[in-house]
Amino acid sequence: MIETADVVIIGSGIVGSSVAYHLAQQGCTNVLVLEREAHQGKGSTGKSMGGVRAQFSTAVNIQMSKYSIDFFSKFDEVVGHPADYRAHGYLFCATNEKHIAYLKGNMERQKALGVTNVEWLSPDDIVKIVPQLRVDDILGGTFCPTDGFVDPHSVMMGFMVNAREQGVRLWLDTTVTGVDLECGGSTPLSLADNNKAPSSRRTPKEGARIAGVQTSRGFVSTRVVINAAGAWAAQIAELAGAELPVEPLRRQLVPTEPFDQLPQRFPMVIDMSTGFHFRREGKGILLAWNDPRETPGFKTEFDPSFIEKILTHAAARVPVLAEAGVNPRRAWAGLYEMTPDHHAIIGPAPNVEGLFFVNGFSGHGVMHSPASGKLAAELVVHGHSDLIDATQLSVTRFAEGRSLEETAIL
Ligand SMILES: Cc1cc2nc3c(=O)[nH]c(=O)nc-3n(C[C@H](O)[C@H](O)[C@H](O)COP(=O)(O)OP(=O)(O)OC[C@H]3O[C@@H](n4cnc5c(N)ncnc54)[C@H](O)[C@@H]3O)c2cc1C
Repeated sequence: MIETADVVIIGSGIVGSSVAYHLAQQGCTNVLVLEREAHQGKGSTGKSMGGVRAQFSTAVNIQMSKYSIDFFSKFDEVVGHPADYRAHGYLFCATNEKHIAYLKGNMERQKALGVTNVEWLSPDDIVKIVPQLRVDDILGGTFCPTDGFVDPHSVMMGFMVNAREQGVRLWLDTTVTGVDLECGGSTPLSLADNNKAPSSRRTPKEGARIAGVQTSRGFVSTRVVINAAGAWAAQIAELAGAELPVEPLRRQLVPTEPFDQLPQRFPMVIDMSTGFHFRREGKGILLAWNDPRETPGFKTEFDPSFIEKILTHAAARVPVLAEAGVNPRRAWAGLYEMTPDHHAIIGPAPNVEGLFFVNGFSGHGVMHSPASGKLAAELVVHGHSDLIDATQLSVTRFAEGRSLEETAIL
């Protein structure tokens, strides 16, 4: 018997799980989620820092965050599982006039879009929040108290458990190996295992539409495929003969051993002079810095030489951190899914009817998972969404010269 589903979601990370939940909320429950790993969260979701913030520079990212942070604040009630949302805030610290102009411009945009609690802080205000910070070159900063953190694994599980309670099916250990298309009733054209270079990609014929997916467990017949494959999304798009500009980029995080020389509670602090940022994680401190020399690729191993680089930035901004112990074996690396304009790609593929993208979060997929799941589910079920103007995030923006640009990337 051929397996069928109204909608197949490829990938069960936080994004695929949110889409599954929001489809079920729309009454669409004949949904099958396919995940190649034996457990959920083995992609980028399980590697995330869990930061959520409305402090972005573009309207669409601010709107996505505003909706999502509000959702996180009532997640436990609405979804029935804990999100572990902690409103500890994000504090951006400016060290030159350009930073000040940038942060103040962003703050005005954020306020105009309803994030009214962002405020400008003086160096004196900043040092009250984190007394151990070296502020001699800090000129001020912005603070938003409802920014903060969630537990990505818990959010992902909450979405999926709720979706499954409503009838959504999840197949673990199931790799999608091909996408079958048909053209106006003709025999399905299988693009299975089409892993060739883009130049030799078989582009689907005009009028091509989804007929099903090939998996390691056999064929699944469906009219709708949602690509939620994170950093691997371009490979899935290619299986359907579609182009998707999403590229993997390694990010590395370093936790310290228990460290009590910083407050028990403080915001995510971002040093704009270097991009170094840090927050409390249990008894220790989680250190982050995006190495500008990192190059794209599926590199998920942690590079031990990163520790010295990050500790240099850490000690320069927070001198007491020079005393923090670090065990390299507890540090980890994961993948951002980067797009050329650092905004997500959400919506239908232009050349394959029934194929939808929810990809390319460029490091913001956890914080934007509620909004992107709702947006994608509404586009699939209704063809439109009132949440935001979805055409802004369409993949066609690149070909049409409508790229956005997000510069507030961590
Ligand atoms: C170090 C680090 C820190 C980060 N910090 C933050 C942060 O503070 N805040 C934030 O918002 N975001 C952060 N991010 C980004 C965030 O983790 C991602 O944007 C988000 O997890 C993407 O979720 P996803 O569900 O799209 O992808 P994933 O979690 O990667 O899920 C994709 C899934 O697809 C599956 N898959 C792939 N190919 C196939 C196939 N052929 N068949 C079946 N299944 C397949 C994979 O196994 C995987 O489980 C961070 C990322 C990293 C690496």
